[in-house]
Amino acid sequence: MAKSATETKVLIVGGGFAGIKCALEFQEKNIRNIKVTLIGDRSHFEYHGALYRLVAGHSPLEVCVPVAEILDEEKVEFLVDKIKKIDPRTKQVMGTDGSVYGYDVLVVALGAETNYFNIPGLEEHSLGMKTIPDALALKRHIHEVIESCADGTKADKLCAGNFVVIGGGATGVEVAAELAVYTKKLAKIHAIEPSLMNVELIEAGKRILPTLPERFAKKIERRVRSLGVNVRLSRAIQKSDIENVYLRDMALKTKTVVWTAGVRANRLITEAGFQTDNLGKALVDKNLQSVDHKDVYFAGDAASTLFSGMAQTALYDGEYIADVIVDKQNEQKIRHYYPGKSIYAIPAGPGWAGIVWGPLRLYGALGWFVRRVVDLVVYRSFLPPKKAYDLFLSHKQACEACPICCAYEQEGKDGRN
Ligand SMILES: Cc1cc2nc3c(=O)[nH]c(=O)nc-3n(C[C@H](O)[C@H](O)[C@H](O)COP(=O)(O)OP(=O)(O)OC[C@H]3O[C@@H](n4cnc5c(N)ncnc54)[C@H](O)[C@@H]3O)c2cc1C
Repeated sequence: MAKSATETKVLIVGGGFAGIKCALEFQEKNIRNIKVTLIGDRSHFEYHGALYRLVAGHSPLEVCVPVAEILDEEKVEFLVDKIKKIDPRTKQVMGTDGSVYGYDVLVVALGAETNYFNIPGLEEHSLGMKTIPDALALKRHIHEVIESCADGTKADKLCAGNFVVIGGGATGVEVAAELAVYTKKLAKIHAIEPSLMNVELIEAGKRILPTLPERFAKKIERRVRSLGVNVRLSRAIQKSDIENVYLRDMALKTKTVVWTAGVRANRLITEAGFQTDNLGKALVDKNLQSVDHKDVYFAGDAASTLFSGMAQTALYDGEYIADVIVDKQNEQKIRHYYPGKSIYAIPAGPGWAGIVWGPLRLYGALGWFVRRVVDLVVYRSFLPPKKAYDLFLSHKQACEACPICCAYEQEGKDGRN
């Protein structure tokens, strides 16, 4: 991109970790001849790392920040629209509301979506764990099935009280551990014998947390087993129907299947014709530029990079891309992309987490403390100090700026929170 007096239109699509961080970086740099627009499909940012807490009754406000509180509208334009198509040849992005957005430079930060691998019945009969509505739907469902079996037979209770979580990655472990504790609490409230509640964690591979060190994964496995989670390894799901999950050699009777085992990058990327890896993540060069179109950058879960799939990588990518675009504009030397390794924090039940931080391993309450510090660091990476501390400390603060959060919150008050 040559230095020019004319304005460069930078369009960022996706208001998650990478998109917001990228917009913030432009906001801080406040370069006069770069106009930045961020388009997201919702008016708030969702902090996925703490979604599992919503399942156990915490407020959505703990994981939700209105974008208006993060960005300065004078410096970055923010629009809410669901993108339905990217056309890199005409340099246009089409929104669901009929709008067409042109760009000089496009940053694709559309994240990932659930992948059901065409397993029969799975999409219809499972619950996801990717968004606030997913987590709240799961919470509602758990309450409903436990309530519904309170007056039933023992067989009814065993079926309703059997919760199957598929996928032994970080999300599956977090959810299974939280459910093991929470469902027993709920059973007591409904005068059901807590020992009738059971959580199954199903993993197709030989161990849980396959991307983390083996000894660490073993310790986490012991921890979740000690909470009462039944961990089944080397069991791939074959199909699911309304009351069963079918594994290779057995069927589990259940009314609750939580699918956490598959994600792929947002399908708009492949639909636009960009070259991708087998998870639909765009192939990028050493500056995160598309290998097909040099005016398109990919960030976070949308980019095929070594540590893609982590929030810290997405934050790094967003910041890096803004730096590259500004440096190019100013004809400065471009540094290569080099994300650091992330800290891995795996919560496993209330007040307990395992941490992998380089060679350091921490478990238990200390791990939990580090995990909370990581939450704070993430909040601080896009919020001013006071707002970050408020979000970190005050779990039930009022949120007037975001109607979506307020609706979620109201739902919690009206429901069974
Ligand atoms: C339950 C869960 C727990 C996790 N826990 C951790 C953790 O503890 N630590 C960690 O490092 N990582 C964790 N991750 C992974 C981490 O959240 C992701 O790596 C990170 O969110 C990627 O950032 P991103 O900006 O690429 O995508 P996202 O943060 O997902 O942002 C994508 C954005 O694009 C928007 N969007 C999607 N489609 C459209 C469209 N068509 N039009 C407009 N906007 C659209 C979405 O609404 C979203 O706001 C977790 C993920 C999940 C699901």
